[in-house]
Amino acid sequence: MSATRHTKVLIIGSGPAGYTAGVYASRAMLEPILIQGIEPGGQLTTTTEVENWPGDSEVQGPDLMVRMEAHARAMGCEIIGDIVTNLDLSKRPFTAQTDSGTVYTADAVILCTGARAKWLGLPSEEKFKGFGVSACATCDGFFYRGMEIVVVGGGNTAVEEALFLTNFASKVTLIHRRDELRAEKILINRLEKNPKIETLWFHEIEEVYGTDAPLGVEGVKVKHTKTGEITDIACKGVFIAIGHAPASELVKDQLALHSGGYVSVEAGSTRTAIAGVFAAGDLTDHTYRQAVTSAGMGCMAALDAEKFIAEQE
Ligand SMILES: Cc1cc2nc3c(=O)[nH]c(=O)nc-3n(C[C@H](O)[C@H](O)[C@H](O)COP(=O)(O)OP(=O)(O)OC[C@H]3O[C@@H](n4cnc5c(N)ncnc54)[C@H](O)[C@@H]3O)c2cc1C
Repeated sequence: MSATRHTKVLIIGSGPAGYTAGVYASRAMLEPILIQGIEPGGQLTTTTEVENWPGDSEVQGPDLMVRMEAHARAMGCEIIGDIVTNLDLSKRPFTAQTDSGTVYTADAVILCTGARAKWLGLPSEEKFKGFGVSACATCDGFFYRGMEIVVVGGGNTAVEEALFLTNFASKVTLIHRRDELRAEKILINRLEKNPKIETLWFHEIEEVYGTDAPLGVEGVKVKHTKTGEITDIACKGVFIAIGHAPASELVKDQLALHSGGYVSVEAGSTRTAIAGVFAAGDLTDHTYRQAVTSAGMGCMAALDAEKFIAEQE
């Protein structure tokens, strides 16, 4: 028989937003329960060095997330290895069903289910992820000072990332499978004027290659989408910029979404359209997408939830 448990605050997701919400909600004596989901620790567990987490000039992503989890536990947050499979926000208390069968009811819910970078799906891309293949120029551009890199994609993100990466790289090759970019005109103008960027039309990556010891990228094999001709581009970094998918499946029919699936929140807060439901981190944010901004929003969500619960009482 499935158990039902009640909590004042249910936090869904265990990335920087979720664990920070856990720390703050615990310190507000709200005795929160946090459900970790399929990826305990979130996206940072899939990377190696993180150099922009304040207080650590260098930290391994998985280590940072182990520390965040320990911090949330130490403050009193109950952390549960389970997945929320269904969430009913239509009446209070809100109800979450989980994979294990346990049902949680909650006075307030903090959604921190994050987002996923979209990848090409190549085995060689998987092999070099975190070792030359990245989906985040802000996170990893700094590692490629003076080196040649390629960026894959044709939308705003790809053009913005290519432009940003010219701050570090000696040359950026933008690879796009069509002959036209889907980016804003102003960005395309900047791209065309930048002497460090070359655009390779009608091409897609066939394979990323490199060394095994140490693991590192040496180049990509690209295929012409019309002729099938394969060529080599030497490079040390490959940035995949083909978009992100926010994990908003649980709430897509219950909350307002924006920009292709991100949960909308009131400006300057984490309040969603439903009172008592808050959203934080990459789930709401298609602009910054950083650990520190997600943690900041997790803090805001816990404070917003605390205020909401105090008002109810
Ligand atoms: C390869 C890589 C490298 C990066 N490097 C950096 C960097 O150097 N610096 C930086 O600041 N940022 C970096 N980022 C970005 C950073 O990881 C994200 O901005 C941050 O993790 C977002 O935090 P979040 O808490 O919003 O969600 P996420 O980290 O995306 O975590 C989402 C959480 O939600 C859970 N979840 C999802 N669905 C459910 C469900 N149904 N039930 C329960 N739980 C669920 C998942 O299990 C996961 O724990 C990197 C990202 C990647 C992919």
